[in-house]
Amino acid sequence: MPSFTELSLIEMQTGLREGRFSSHELVEAALERIAALEPSLHAFLHIAADSALKQADEADHKGMAGPLPLHGIPIAIKDVLTVDSMPATAGSKILEGFRPPYTATAVKRLQDAGAIVIGKTNTDEFAMGSSTEHSAYGVTHNPWDPSRVPGGSSGGSAVAVAARLVPAALGTDTGGSVRQPASFCGVTGLKPTYGRVSRYGLIAFGSSLDCIGAFGRSSEDVALIFEIMAGWDALDATSVEKPMVSPSTSLHSAQGESIRGMRIGVPQEYFIEGMQAEVQTRTRAAIAQLEDLGAEVSEISLPHTEYALPVYYILAPAEASANLARFDGVRYGPRAEADSLREVFFKTRGQKFGPEVTRRIMLGTYALSAGYYDAYYGQAQKARTLIKQDFENAFEQVDLIACPATPTTAFEIGAHKGDPLAMYLEDVFTLPASLAGVPGISFPVGFDNQGLPIGMQLLAPHFGEDLLFKVTHIYQQVTDWHKRKPEI
Ligand code: GLN
Repeated sequence: MPSFTELSLIEMQTGLREGRFSSHELVEAALERIAALEPSLHAFLHIAADSALKQADEADHKGMAGPLPLHGIPIAIKDVLTVDSMPATAGSKILEGFRPPYTATAVKRLQDAGAIVIGKTNTDEFAMGSSTEHSAYGVTHNPWDPSRVPGGSSGGSAVAVAARLVPAALGTDTGGSVRQPASFCGVTGLKPTYGRVSRYGLIAFGSSLDCIGAFGRSSEDVALIFEIMAGWDALDATSVEKPMVSPSTSLHSAQGESIRGMRIGVPQEYFIEGMQAEVQTRTRAAIAQLEDLGAEVSEISLPHTEYALPVYYILAPAEASANLARFDGVRYGPRAEADSLREVFFKTRGQKFGPEVTRRIMLGTYALSAGYYDAYYGQAQKARTLIKQDFENAFEQVDLIACPATPTTAFEIGAHKGDPLAMYLEDVFTLPASLAGVPGISFPVGFDNQGLPIGMQLLAPHFGEDLLFKVTHIYQQVTDWHKRKPEI
């Protein structure tokens, strides 16, 4: 038997059900590996060793009577989601020491299904970033090359899965923060349709964009997590009440099935000058493989793609500037010493928000200010509609869209220091789907000549997650990129 941390989510589920090992053994092995690798990776902001072991013992004690799908399986949660017994910092000093009194719906559903939260993972401050370098608690390192970033903002969760610390982890994707780190770390990551997973208990960044997603080693593992956490929730008014094709049933029916006749569109705007050549070649090779498997591949156009980046960097900061107004030194976390209430606000925010968050609040406040609202925010909303319409038009011709997930592989830590625009450009291929609210999955399709993983993205119409899982699963059955792991 491989060592416990080598097991995938489904393998853990099966092994526990068959009584081949205990939850205690799984959790203990995960904690040992975390303890050994944290000094070099720094994937976690909080490790709940004692409570995880206690829950594992309880799970073993209960046994598998009426088996829950995630009974006794350790997982990790990005530290922008609340878990009631743990701190929640959102990677920021302004929430240092804050303990939320409730658990996010997505996490609660996983716990109710038996999962054991082993810890909270590192993130760019308030999920603003593409490298995890904006965390106030230090950078997370990419396990394929520790001198490189893991991507972000859900870098800690991507690393926790890639380094075999846990079989699955939750992240959030506002503009690419699951798909991009999944691609940098060689794992599979899903951004669901906006509204498919409740945002209750997610510390808000851009409320019209925020989605809770999942990382795993394969489409199958991610589908299992998604299926459990998705669905309507009375606590989130934007969560959608819509029946779901069960991804695991659709994967089951995909066994031995081909994707014959499936129409896959490749947007010409996603192969741009300046992107890394190997990313292009490997993505094209994976698309060719889908064609060999029976898909009908055609070139399509999403003509407003170039506006996604400027539109996102107006709308997301605008929403963030409103959402982050609540962090004032009164309600949560630390409070600066000051003589007046006004000064408490200014000083606490001035001292505790990091530079990227401050930049976004200023950008957002400016875009929303009386004299500029129409010119920036209003225009950006109109352009967002055009981007959404691009997808609607495309999905009249094709079932799925295939494209690169990121323009480059993982970059060196510090490479974009002092150049926020260069950092923003990392999101160029993930932002359009976020603005349109459509689901996307990113999964490994090869390596560059430095041995760094390359990820590709599939995008589906709203609520088409089952299709994403199915095609990715079929690809993963005939390839082994997703099984490669870093040597650490
Ligand atoms: N990198 C993008 C940003 O900085 C996306 C972040 C995210 O998806 N949370 O805003």
